[in-house]
Amino acid sequence: MTDLVIRNVRPLGKAATDIAVAGGRIAAMGTNLPANGALVEDGGGALLLPGLIEAHTHLDKTLLGMDWVENVVASDIRSKIDNEREMKGVLGLDPALQSARQVVMSIARGTTAIRSHVDIDTTYGLAGLEDVAATRERYADVIDLQIVAFPQSGMMIRKGTVELMDEALRQGADIVGGLDPCAIDFDPKGHLDVVFDLAVRHGKPIDIHLHEPGELGLFTFGMILERTRAHGLAGKVTVSHAFSLGMNDYLRVGRLLDEIAGAGVMLMSTGPAGVSVPPLIRALDAGIAFCSGTDGMRDLWNPYGNADMLQRAQILADRNNLSRDTEVERALDVCTFGGAAVMGLPDYGLEVGDFADLVLVEGRTLTEAVVTLPQRKLVVKRGRVVARDGEALVEAA
Ligand SMILES: [Zn+2]
Repeated sequence: MTDLVIRNVRPLGKAATDIAVAGGRIAAMGTNLPANGALVEDGGGALLLPGLIEAHTHLDKTLLGMDWVENVVASDIRSKIDNEREMKGVLGLDPALQSARQVVMSIARGTTAIRSHVDIDTTYGLAGLEDVAATRERYADVIDLQIVAFPQSGMMIRKGTVELMDEALRQGADIVGGLDPCAIDFDPKGHLDVVFDLAVRHGKPIDIHLHEPGELGLFTFGMILERTRAHGLAGKVTVSHAFSLGMNDYLRVGRLLDEIAGAGVMLMSTGPAGVSVPPLIRALDAGIAFCSGTDGMRDLWNPYGNADMLQRAQILADRNNLSRDTEVERALDVCTFGGAAVMGLPDYGLEVGDFADLVLVEGRTLTEAVVTLPQRKLVVKRGRVVARDGEALVEAA
């Protein structure tokens, strides 16, 4: 039985077609599909994209909807970490409500799956995890949400954190996080051995924040690659940020990109300003699965961000100096298919049989949509309309 028919849309900018949805999946594509009593939406010739994928954010600590907090923190990572851990308590930040607010904003902008890191530390324990897990359950019908247990304050330098990470993975965290094994934890072997041991014991993937610059970053990369191969974790390990890949010798980075591809390690970049970034096109050409995300938004680290993954494609393209339409399309692909690959989302795409996670936007071409950032006309999750004309049909409060 057909549940929904969307008429006159152009999948990824191709020829206009209708699309029929049944049981949460794309059931048919073609012209003049019969409605059979199903809900009918007029696409009006809009572009049809698969759901946008937010593959790296921090839902537990956005300040969205709260009073404005003046940012007076120093710009180094350690200061930001310590300031945030303290201020979360001072402000009475509620991760359940805050994560709900960001989820609703993401849905309005066409995101259908999110991977969120959630702080695990000896001050707040597993409170953030429990709250974001409640949000995951609350919105299970309208968004896929993966939770990374993230030792934001360090792991080896804060006694008790390893045990909390272990407990977080038992209690529903989907992925093992890590953070700057040298620069924050001062113990790369200890840190990475724990991360990979947790992953193997719990049978869960890994996603490591690696801000470490230059030679230090490459050193840590080597240790991550070695452990990924040794544990047979190809396709299960993501390195987020990976600034060092933008800072080193061209030929050396090229060899490392080949090694990363060979080990099945995946990359995430938000395309940030003010720091070198991994070269997007070279990484894609090497065959590396590559995703992107908003990262922390409107939080105690920085006041920016709007959870818009179409805009993220633009930022990524701009940051990588991409101007040819075919290259801009690859940046968009990172925010759709790339994210789905890294998150391991099954049956993702615009083929018959795929889940009906769909976004309609105005634009003559995909590149025009990335440039003009049109409102999301319609957002569909598993066949259900969840946002219309830029507004989510679910609430946060
Ligand atoms: Zn992050």
